[in-house]
Amino acid sequence: MQVPSTQDLLAAWEHGRAAPRPTGRALALLSAACVDMRPDQIARLTIGARDHLLLTLRRKMFGARLAAVTRCPACQANLEMEFDADDIVVAPTGGTEQQERAKGLSLRLDGYDIAFRLPNSLDLLALPGGGSVDESKRHLIERVLQRALHGDREISAAELPRALIDALDQQMSRADPQGEVRLNLNCAECEANWRAPFDIVSYFWSEIDAWAIGVLRDVHRLARAYGWPEGDILALSPMRRQCYLDMLDA
Ligand SMILES: [Zn+2]
Repeated sequence: MQVPSTQDLLAAWEHGRAAPRPTGRALALLSAACVDMRPDQIARLTIGARDHLLLTLRRKMFGARLAAVTRCPACQANLEMEFDADDIVVAPTGGTEQQERAKGLSLRLDGYDIAFRLPNSLDLLALPGGGSVDESKRHLIERVLQRALHGDREISAAELPRALIDALDQQMSRADPQGEVRLNLNCAECEANWRAPFDIVSYFWSEIDAWAIGVLRDVHRLARAYGWPEGDILALSPMRRQCYLDMLDA
């Protein structure tokens, strides 16, 4: 993995902005950074392996410290939280072992015998929009189901009882924990404790969005002051660009 050039990252940002779903943004960023992988390979990574790569890229670009503001569910106080990227890395690598595990999982429960794989970005992109959480869960399981037997009879995903859908969902989370990071939070005001999901895709994307707008603003100022074309300004190293901006301010 490499940190993409300013031009490549801006192209990925533009691509991601046009994507209708966060999954498309995650894939746009990783396609720019993981030049040794084909886009379809990235799209077939488990969600945990994909998020692990996003976390690595985020660390390379903006450092290991993550900060966010959240609201205490008990007393509604606003809380500023800070944590380290290492605190939320579950799997040390998104490597082969995890991808091997992703291929074949099974669950036997209440006379049902299910074989399935872990979901990937293509599965998320294929989900119909606007459904409830339960509907999405069922659609996802339909995609990843490899075999479903009730006794000797082969059944479809639509026939799986709710309890089994929940059990499959839990097993997928356990097998790919990086895909579902939760933070342990405590409120300094009322001492409430709770666990909150942390979504690296939306977190990182909002940083990339702010970064891209900042770069374009700098291009705008330099182009206006010196008449340089956009490509020439973007080809400058960030440090050199900043020097010229400082001179404009002087
Ligand atoms: Zn509180």
